[in-house]
Amino acid sequence: MPAQLLDGRQIAKRMRERLAEARQTLGDRPVRLVSLEVGQNPAADVYVRNQQRAAAEVGIAMEVENLPVASTEAQLVEAISALNRRADVSGIIVQRPLPHGIDPRQVQMAIDPHKDVEGMHPANMGSILYREPLLPPCTAAAAQQLIVATGMDLRGAETVVVGHSEIVGKPIAVLLLHHLSTVTVCHIGTRNLADHTRRADIVVVAVGKPGLVHGDMLKPGACVIDVGINQGPDGKIVGDVDFASANEVAGFLTPVPGGVGPVTVAMLLRNTLRAAGASV
Ligand code: NAP
Repeated sequence: MPAQLLDGRQIAKRMRERLAEARQTLGDRPVRLVSLEVGQNPAADVYVRNQQRAAAEVGIAMEVENLPVASTEAQLVEAISALNRRADVSGIIVQRPLPHGIDPRQVQMAIDPHKDVEGMHPANMGSILYREPLLPPCTAAAAQQLIVATGMDLRGAETVVVGHSEIVGKPIAVLLLHHLSTVTVCHIGTRNLADHTRRADIVVVAVGKPGLVHGDMLKPGACVIDVGINQGPDGKIVGDVDFASANEVAGFLTPVPGGVGPVTVAMLLRNTLRAAGASV
């Protein structure tokens, strides 16, 4: 029997409906998200357009600022500082990839943590250890939301997170630990990845390598969350999980595209409303 698909587009749509109601509770208070991009990147532009469409649906104004491609780190940080000072700006997002010579960590740290709606500032990253972060990292929160949507009992569930990046793998592991799931984090030093994934009730893959996880590496009935976004040689977007083989073994599976991505955007909007003072 094929896996039950976790439809991120549907989940995100329902979230946006709830977020639009939360937006109303703020009345005339400005809720503005500003996207900063250095140069022009076609892939980032697609994300920006998706974010703009979703923001408009919720009633959040989104402003897009494009800095010249030759901008220095200091100039980008100055642009961020100006946004930090603007009372009408609730949230700031810096689009990636950034040109060589600009350190993404320095840039992220320049954002006022109260406006860091991607949840990547060390203050927000650190706060997830305390269980109730105001602005959690969006992709990690999206992966968590998709797992919770399955209705599975996470307490005691064997969970394997593949990938240990600061912005995705590590925060996902921490969020799932709060559910009393038994979490193993696999990475480049892991000896035999399949030994771990085969015993997992939940597998989250966030690496950026197409086809890294195959159906024969999964326990029958497992919940598989594919965070990866990779462009194939034919231009098609694929995840890190081989969809066809995983679909025959998994109990739940996120498609790529249409899984984690749309829910991540909804989390960005939720964080923007929270930054503006909404209880959501
Ligand atoms: P990243 O910073 O490149 O991290 C990738 C991680 O995978 C690293 O921890 C790396 O370990 C580990 N890794 C590499 N090869 C591995 C292997 N063979 N087995 C196990 N682990 C391995 O990437 P990221 O920012 O976390 O993003 C991961 C993927 O998610 C990308 O495809 C990205 O496009 C996608 N993504 C999706 C969303 C979304 O909303 N859907 C959001 C963000 C990112 P080392 O550091 O030790 O090499």
